[in-house]
Amino acid sequence: MADEVSGSEQYDIVIIGGGPGGYAAALYGAAAGLSIAMVEKEKVGGTCLHRGCIPAKEFLETATIFRTVSGAKEFGVQSTQPTVDFAISLDRKRKVVDQLFKGLTGLLRQRKVTTYAGAGKMLADRRVEVTASDGTTSTIAGSYVVLASGSVPRTIAGFEPDGTVVLTSDEVLELSAIPPSAVVIGGGAIGCEFASMMADLGSQVTLLEVAPALLPGCDPDVADVVAKSFKRRGIDVRTGVTVHGHERRERGTSVLVGDGERIDTDVVIVSVGRRPLSDNLLAEGTGVQVDQRGFVVVDEWMRTGVDGVFAIGDLVATPQLAHVAFAEGILVIKEILEEPAVPVDYAKVPWCIYCHPEAAFTGLTEQAAKAAGYDVIVKKDPYGGNGRARIIGETEGLVKVICERGPDGRAGRILGVHMVGPWVTEQLGQAYLSVNWEATPDEVAQYVQPHPTLSEAFGETVLALTGRGLHVG
Ligand SMILES: Cc1cc2nc3c(=O)[nH]c(=O)nc-3n(C[C@H](O)[C@H](O)[C@H](O)COP(=O)(O)OP(=O)(O)OC[C@H]3O[C@@H](n4cnc5c(N)ncnc54)[C@H](O)[C@@H]3O)c2cc1C
Repeated sequence: MADEVSGSEQYDIVIIGGGPGGYAAALYGAAAGLSIAMVEKEKVGGTCLHRGCIPAKEFLETATIFRTVSGAKEFGVQSTQPTVDFAISLDRKRKVVDQLFKGLTGLLRQRKVTTYAGAGKMLADRRVEVTASDGTTSTIAGSYVVLASGSVPRTIAGFEPDGTVVLTSDEVLELSAIPPSAVVIGGGAIGCEFASMMADLGSQVTLLEVAPALLPGCDPDVADVVAKSFKRRGIDVRTGVTVHGHERRERGTSVLVGDGERIDTDVVIVSVGRRPLSDNLLAEGTGVQVDQRGFVVVDEWMRTGVDGVFAIGDLVATPQLAHVAFAEGILVIKEILEEPAVPVDYAKVPWCIYCHPEAAFTGLTEQAAKAAGYDVIVKKDPYGGNGRARIIGETEGLVKVICERGPDGRAGRILGVHMVGPWVTEQLGQAYLSVNWEATPDEVAQYVQPHPTLSEAFGETVLALTGRGLHVG
């Protein structure tokens, strides 16, 4: 343990920020008997629970239900064409968030985590000043301090959010009606999720991405399936385009694109990533380094370089994912307890994108594996041949497995698994284990996949990589 700091309410750990990173560290540390204070300026649960993962997936579920009911006739289930009352969806989303929020606050209470309501600022000597909403301040101190203040939506010049026409994810997740038309700027994970959800619910969506393809970072085979599905469902997907600004109209606005084209729309959704929230987090002289982009600088152990001070989650330049923040929070506690620990392997963390069709991956893409010098063997299995996919009527998509060629010329270590199609976000688990265990197809193919399941597609692909497949050649 680091030394105690005198003169303030003292805890083993003071955490600034109660999002997934902060509350994972708090719960895990408290479970090990450490005394923990967590400072939160809004609501524990952070972006993920209130303005991110949970509300976004709740809205996407409305789109799924709508699609399912619209397609019910194909299964012999007769219904009138459904309509959507999005205000009810908003209400349901609030209930889901509220239930999880109550569960989390209850758990923190049970584990005796002391939550301070207010904005935390780290002072020198691992003291933290807490400013409550009425302006009163108090100071607490920790043997260790964990900075976990997260991130906020990034904006672009000329598209300042106004909450009615120019929206970020924060405002989209509070919509009570689906606008007739929407331009989504940014074809990354969040942009694709919003475009998919809105198009399914009847909005005319234009999706603009500056990169040559949607979902930069995804394997091109996966991104291609998503792009084709979007186009078939009427989303106007434009890649390799730049936006120059917008001009307000009486209703909505005109987005200025490329060489002078104007796209009229009711709303513009700016979805161009998130910036770390390091503003007002650190007093002068703490010694904690912040880079030019606002990320707190850490090593692979999440250490800031200042004795006893760590930073985790979206505040640091690692993948901005809730489960990465959880993993970093747990890692920090293990280090504080001097328990065996391994740094997070960011090249292999799971990525899940909940648009329709879903995309999920872990490890290297085919291109990245080749660029890294691997001689690769690749197999793909389309969902069209999978029994369960046929049953549920969702055959679009594929599983792609990338292996390093072994010394015997056969497929060796599994380097990456990329999936697109029905419920792939729920199927990635065994692929994630295989990649991180550095397993080979010979090892993984021994395991029996239940039938009929969508996960057989992964099993079939791996079996084919052993040299003899059943359905996959
Ligand atoms: C629309 C959307 C969808 C997403 N979907 C997914 C998904 O499907 N899967 C996934 O893994 N990730 C998803 N994410 C990303 C995920 O939400 C973030 O990676 C995650 O919330 C980061 O956790 P964090 O604890 O680092 O920060 P945050 O969740 O941002 O939490 C930081 C907390 O700190 C508080 N805070 C900030 N400054 C201070 C201060 N000075 N004093 C006190 N408190 C402070 C904030 O109020 C906040 O509660 C999504 C994000 C968005 C926006």
